[in-house]
Amino acid sequence: MKNKQNIEKVPLIGQTLKEIVHLIQEMGFPKFRGKQIFQWLYQHRINEMNEMANVPNDIRQKLSSSFIIHPLQLNLHTKSDQEPTEKFLFTLQSGEDIESVLMKDGKRNTLCISTQVGCAVDCDFCATAKMGFQKNLTTGEIVDQYIHVQNMSSRPITNIVFMGMGEPFLNYKNVISAADLLNHPEGIQMGARRITISTAGVVPKIKQFAEEKHKYKLAISLNASNEPQRKEIMPITKTHRLNDLMEAADMYYQSSGRFPTFEYVLMEGINDSLRDAHELARLIGRQPCKVNVIPYNEIGGIYRRPSDDKIKSFLSQLKNVPFQVTVRWSRGTDIKAGCGQLAVNSDS
Ligand code: SAH
Repeated sequence: MKNKQNIEKVPLIGQTLKEIVHLIQEMGFPKFRGKQIFQWLYQHRINEMNEMANVPNDIRQKLSSSFIIHPLQLNLHTKSDQEPTEKFLFTLQSGEDIESVLMKDGKRNTLCISTQVGCAVDCDFCATAKMGFQKNLTTGEIVDQYIHVQNMSSRPITNIVFMGMGEPFLNYKNVISAADLLNHPEGIQMGARRITISTAGVVPKIKQFAEEKHKYKLAISLNASNEPQRKEIMPITKTHRLNDLMEAADMYYQSSGRFPTFEYVLMEGINDSLRDAHELARLIGRQPCKVNVIPYNEIGGIYRRPSDDKIKSFLSQLKNVPFQVTVRWSRGTDIKAGCGQLAVNSDS
């Protein structure tokens, strides 16, 4: 097992300000040291305890005896030849691998992070689903993807999307505390509106997210224009019905005033007909939202990306709808870094 030498030590990344203050007080040191350590970890993104210049040596030594900084170890860094896209492969302390993707687009530098090893949702078209579910990532394992990638990137990361491997809302608690750490004013300070959490449609968690009034943006992978079609490609629809999903999306809008984004992965012969476009428009109706059409990234299975003409005519049917429609051409498909192409331990 990789990374084994540190397995008994607890990573500091992932601990909240409250937790760090608590552990520092337990060790018999004053409270304000906790805040200093928090800032070194998340603002200065140190790699060694010794870098904490204003923290006395005895505290650093005591910390080093029971703690390490990073829960993740970087194993592979791949760059696309065709686009400004990079993929990072990390190993957890327990030995599993996960991936993150960094995409540059104009002034935006967006990091796509994973929330689970594998995924239990089993969307038929997604490579991560083929791995099955292995485990939830800890808060630290989610946040550390950002810290490592930012440490290796010359430009600041401007946006974070929880759209890598896994279903964020089946790891709700850790995902929210990771977003809170990314957003923390004493730490990383990523604006809440620059953080997007994407779900395949775990309805009770969407409602909880709305009720708790989190400031992060919500994306919902709709991917179908009607319920039977969605059931075929996204079996989660059997548990959480399409009508309930649309109602939960509206609830999010009502309670936050923010538009949910519906992602619609366009697949040839599945959901790309002109009738689908009309049904999609009818399904959404006057719901305030944005729709993001994602031409499918092929993963060697039965699903295909529609031709450019087909994509254009699908979009042209949505010209006069009351919601904004954008197209997201996935980046980094040559290095299997596109949406739905993340699957470690297979052929990636
Ligand atoms: N589980 C979450 C987040 C991960 S998937 C969710 O479902 O939202 C991130 C996005 O990639 C989802 O919108 C999903 O529908 C899309 N996706 C999955 N496989 C894809 C593929 N092969 N090509 C294009 N998009 C894909």
